[in-house]
Amino acid sequence: MGSGYISLLNVEPPLTVRVRLAPSPTGPLHIGTARTAVFNWLYARRNKGRFLLRIEDTDKERSKPEFTRNILEGLRWLGIDWDEEPVVQSARGALHRQAIADLLASGKAYRCYCSEAELEAMRNARKAAGQPPRYDNRHRHLTADQEAAFQREGREAVVRFAIDDSEEIHWHDLVRGPMAWSGRDLGGDMVIARRCPADSIGDPLYNLVVVLDDAFMDISHVIRGEDHIANTAKQLLLYRALGLKAPSFAHTPLILNRDGRKLSKRDGVTSISDFQAMGYTAEAIGNYMGLLGWSPPQGMGERFTLVEASRHFDFDRVNRAGARFDWDKLNWINGQVLHGQSSTALRAQLEPLWRQAGFTLAADPAWLDRLTGLISPSLTLLKDGVDQARPFLTTPEPDQAARDHLASEGCRAALRLLLEGLPDRFDDAAVRALLGQVAKAAGVSRGVLMKGVRAALLGSLQGPDLMASWALLSQRGEDRGRLLGAID
Ligand code: GLU
Repeated sequence: MGSGYISLLNVEPPLTVRVRLAPSPTGPLHIGTARTAVFNWLYARRNKGRFLLRIEDTDKERSKPEFTRNILEGLRWLGIDWDEEPVVQSARGALHRQAIADLLASGKAYRCYCSEAELEAMRNARKAAGQPPRYDNRHRHLTADQEAAFQREGREAVVRFAIDDSEEIHWHDLVRGPMAWSGRDLGGDMVIARRCPADSIGDPLYNLVVVLDDAFMDISHVIRGEDHIANTAKQLLLYRALGLKAPSFAHTPLILNRDGRKLSKRDGVTSISDFQAMGYTAEAIGNYMGLLGWSPPQGMGERFTLVEASRHFDFDRVNRAGARFDWDKLNWINGQVLHGQSSTALRAQLEPLWRQAGFTLAADPAWLDRLTGLISPSLTLLKDGVDQARPFLTTPEPDQAARDHLASEGCRAALRLLLEGLPDRFDDAAVRALLGQVAKAAGVSRGVLMKGVRAALLGSLQGPDLMASWALLSQRGEDRGRLLGAID
């Protein structure tokens, strides 16, 4: 029997598609990660495969349980479900260390005792010569005596994996096609374990553990952002050195901001919880993530649920160019999602926001449903429903334009006349006829009168359909009082 990780060798190719999202819990669920999750999930569902999670929590200082929670909640919110218990990377530390020990024993890796100052000097010298940073592999062939001398000096060591300059690394990327990297462009022998006293092995680093864990999880396809392309080249060398079968790779385009640069924290909103707090729906975010770098097939349109997209998703329609984040498109989709919901479903989501805003809600849910139906077409974000509903759920304080209009020539007199003729039970046809008669009798245009009614009822000259708003207020017996209040 070999050592721990050897027993995890992928002898057989995986029978099914097995993909994974490997978030680092060092911050809340980022939209780049969410988009990667969406593509992985779509690919898994399309191929009746499995979508797995691995929490990459090996950065002990920056990893926090609350970020893990935020990431899992964000995925659930988007409707992205996973098929097996998440793998927690830190729980596999002993196996990672064993793999490093084996690489050391086989001479494929070695201890490097260079101090930070020496590495810095190396970097500076290359910079001065106009060259990219690179470790010059100077400790690759230390003798036992040299090592012993460094250890006597009290030097600590990292573990480096040897990368020959002559290596030519090729793979067929499922998005980008044939890829080629040269060993000489990988920055010299790669650190796979952090610095520590030379009688033990320091914390294993990303490129090594990701290979061991992807093999352990039997991952068939690694789908991740194109910022990992150089890592893929390094990881392929590690697969070979460890005797593990490499998965297929698909590198997805980066998400860019308006200026065409990689979307970053500086762009403000970048985490899924931020979008959630701003009032975007999960369906709209999922839909939009699906459009960030993927073009749905002709005839599918731009509006889809993730389940619909999962019937069509493939890499041949994933773009290579960066995907510019388009707020207008996202807002449009969110509006479409909201407008497409039933009044009852939408009301259920609005109610908590209304309560938060301090509105006292009518006991009658049917009335709230009607109100929701009335304001729904003007919603872009869910939270727009607070301001839109405010004049119905609280007594509005007329704004300046409404006050000016009410003070205009003949407006109050016309409203007084209107009140006199108003039927006890609101009847659309009767009220329309009355408006015509009153306008004529008061010598104002019908438009001026209607605006006056709007100002009196809703405290503003803008808002949803007037007759429908009026009917709604009259149902709660609130129209008369508001009209009276305006002519006082
Ligand atoms: N933890 C890595 C990241 O969040 C995972 C990258 C990968 O998918 O291999 O970038």
